[in-house]
Amino acid sequence: MQTLRASKCGLSTALLPSSILDVIDCLTKAGYEAYIVGGGVRDLMLGHRPKDFDAVTNATPAQVKEVFGRRCRIIGRRFELAHVYSGRELIEVATFRAPPKQRQATAAGMILRDNNWGTIEQDYARRDFSINTLYYQPQKGIVLDFCRAVDDIQSKTLRLLGEPQVRFEEDPVRMLRTLRFAAKLGFQIDPAILAVLTAKQAELLRDVSPHRLYDESQKLFTMGHLHRVLPMLIEYGIWKQLFADIPAQVNPFIQKAAQNTDQRIQIGKTINPAFFYAVLLWQPFLQRCEFYTQQKGLVASEARAQAGLDVLKRQATRTIIPRFAETFIREVWEMQSRLLDPKPQQIEALSGHARFRAGFDFLLLREKSGDGSTQGMGQWWESYQHLSADEKEQTIRAYNRKRQRNRRKSTEPVLQQGADTEIEPLVEQQEKPRRGRQPRRTASTDNNTVSVPQSGQQQSLDHPILRRKRVQRDLNQVVFGPTQ
Ligand code: ATP
Ligand code: MG
Repeated sequence: MQTLRASKCGLSTALLPSSILDVIDCLTKAGYEAYIVGGGVRDLMLGHRPKDFDAVTNATPAQVKEVFGRRCRIIGRRFELAHVYSGRELIEVATFRAPPKQRQATAAGMILRDNNWGTIEQDYARRDFSINTLYYQPQKGIVLDFCRAVDDIQSKTLRLLGEPQVRFEEDPVRMLRTLRFAAKLGFQIDPAILAVLTAKQAELLRDVSPHRLYDESQKLFTMGHLHRVLPMLIEYGIWKQLFADIPAQVNPFIQKAAQNTDQRIQIGKTINPAFFYAVLLWQPFLQRCEFYTQQKGLVASEARAQAGLDVLKRQATRTIIPRFAETFIREVWEMQSRLLDPKPQQIEALSGHARFRAGFDFLLLREKSGDGSTQGMGQWWESYQHLSADEKEQTIRAYNRKRQRNRRKSTEPVLQQGADTEIEPLVEQQEKPRRGRQPRRTASTDNNTVSVPQSGQQQSLDHPILRRKRVQRDLNQVVFGPTQ
């Protein structure tokens, strides 16, 4: 172990938010050891802006609770942690951990419980990559480096501690983390890892809970280097484990959406990971729609409703998308046919719909990636939004004339069939409630309350999708999909 001067590593308290300094300070004053560890230290050393700072201490969660009282909550079972609030911020405080006992792992070596408190040396050894194991004590101005991690940071190398094969068996999510860090930091992967990072090895991910995999997929989508990581997921056989029914191919639509998502993150905009799921699952959704219309003879609206349910249900066997996000995805898909062939009298109402922005972004991305079936409507809506009231009226009249002409001439493409008929409610068909996890956000639950209209009815302004108006929401709770 070497002790380095923090200033030599480019670290100083000036780079740290007061929340993490406060937590380290309180623990130290109470007589405990406390350090900043993990991604925060790594990112600061690389000159990146850390997503967050994690603290680690020799105090047990109960002792941390004693120090911080009501500012602290103990969470987790498999991996017990203290959450400490400092002002409005939340700092995760972990206790030094020893290696798990034998019986706390599955027969395949996967760790089930991980709550044996230990020393800092033991804590270091059970972390994943060398670059994530630097312990920074800001008040003393020192960094503890147990494995020449600083050299790996300098040479931009992603190296696992210990035997990669064993480390992947202990926790298969480390395979995903390998690709995430390689893509995010632009690091090269150690050949010892590459030697075991095979499609066969990726099958271990089947033993990981779909809830945890959803969380990991979100991290992949929101790290700002999605376009870089997607081909890697395919190359190492991980795509197949995460997205079973999605062809392992970055098609132009997915590519465009990935670039768009990354750009948004780069300029500090929020993104909704559910939007990217809507993009990924669009192709399987269309195929399923075709199956229901062509082979089962359903009208398009019913086919869409059923296809949406099927596709999301199948995806849930890999990553469980929370209900509110599923609702969002199905609404974005449903919006596509609304936006593609809107009834003239509904155009203005549609443009004020709560899901218009995401639906429109989706349509425009399809169009910009060369999907001719949008028939230029992405651009049409783009222009429409910037018109004055008079211009909007004229545009709608012109659109109506063209629509009448086209209707006389042609039969509609598959996705539009039934667009004149009442659509199925977007998320009416509730399955049995899932056990385990509650939806984290509730913003869209109102979507579940619409009644089942009969297919074949005339669509009116009273339709559920049109009744929902844009409402002022807490932006911490609801974020919209990528904009151009
Ligand atoms: P970022 O927060 O930027 O995604 P991070 O390295 O901080 O990256 P976290 O998931 O916040 O990642 O985890 C904090 C630290 O906990 C890591 O740096 C690593 O030392 C350790 N860690 C996290 N997940 C694992 C794991 N699956 N196996 C071993 N160690 C882990
Ligand atoms: Mg972190």
